[in-house]
Amino acid sequence: MARVIAIANQKGGVGKTTTAVNLAASMAATRRKVLLIDLDPQGNATMGSGVDKYNVENTIYNLLVDEKKVEDVIVRDTDGKYDLMAANGDVTAAEIKLMEVFSRETRLRRALEPVRDQYDFIFIDCPPSLNLLTVNAMAAADSILVPMQCEYYALEGLTALMDTIEQLVDVVNPDLSIEGILRTMYDPRNRLANDVSEQLKNHFGNKVYRTVIPRNVRLAEAPSFGAPVMYYDKSSTGSKAYLALAGEVIRRTEQDSAQAS
Ligand code: ADP
Ligand code: MG
Repeated sequence: MARVIAIANQKGGVGKTTTAVNLAASMAATRRKVLLIDLDPQGNATMGSGVDKYNVENTIYNLLVDEKKVEDVIVRDTDGKYDLMAANGDVTAAEIKLMEVFSRETRLRRALEPVRDQYDFIFIDCPPSLNLLTVNAMAAADSILVPMQCEYYALEGLTALMDTIEQLVDVVNPDLSIEGILRTMYDPRNRLANDVSEQLKNHFGNKVYRTVIPRNVRLAEAPSFGAPVMYYDKSSTGSKAYLALAGEVIRRTEQDSAQAS
């Protein structure tokens, strides 16, 4: 049964999509079966997986609003060696259409049920807002992975996100947990980043991943090449960092299931 991890932060530009694409590719490289769901109408995770968002047959709009069969919406064999559910501008309309439908918060969760046992990990790349799409992601997920930049206002944003999660836990998903907090675009020479990083560890303890994603130009270049960074520059620090993150996520998952049994 797949572990479903939503990659979320209501702030834009913190590295959600970069993390979704490169973590999915790194997991796939370790022979895990992976599905990446692009829930952002910008379709960046779709393009970053080497899939043309202007030329896809079905998007998550068709899954959520038209209730198309999940197998028909999945794009197999992307350039990241994982499966994908694509997004593009059409998905903006899904936010509005969903308002009118029955059990609108749990559409994604129910749609995924038939394929959950086909994957080891399902990652959901969330839009940078707390709309109905994000609520669907959180209702479908086991846990949330929060990428964040170690900036002055980062902790404030994180507290706001935690509050929102707590409210959603009560309403749509009582089992939702925090998978981990990931420091992205990290520059160790920046004193403020180090300070914020320390505060983060004091506050969230071992929820903060040991793996840190450095600022690395290859990570920013890879999307224009239409592939995860490991297929663009395998030896880059960015590629190595996301492989290390995949290892850390796997180890945590295995520890959790060992404790549960
Ligand atoms: P989000 O999905 O949260 O909006 P993105 O993953 O799209 O954030 O990242 C925002 C921008 O920063 C993109 O242009 C991306 O290529 C770049 N970026 C993300 N992570 C890194 C990194 N570690 N080093 C350098 N650039 C990065
Ligand atoms: Mg994004």
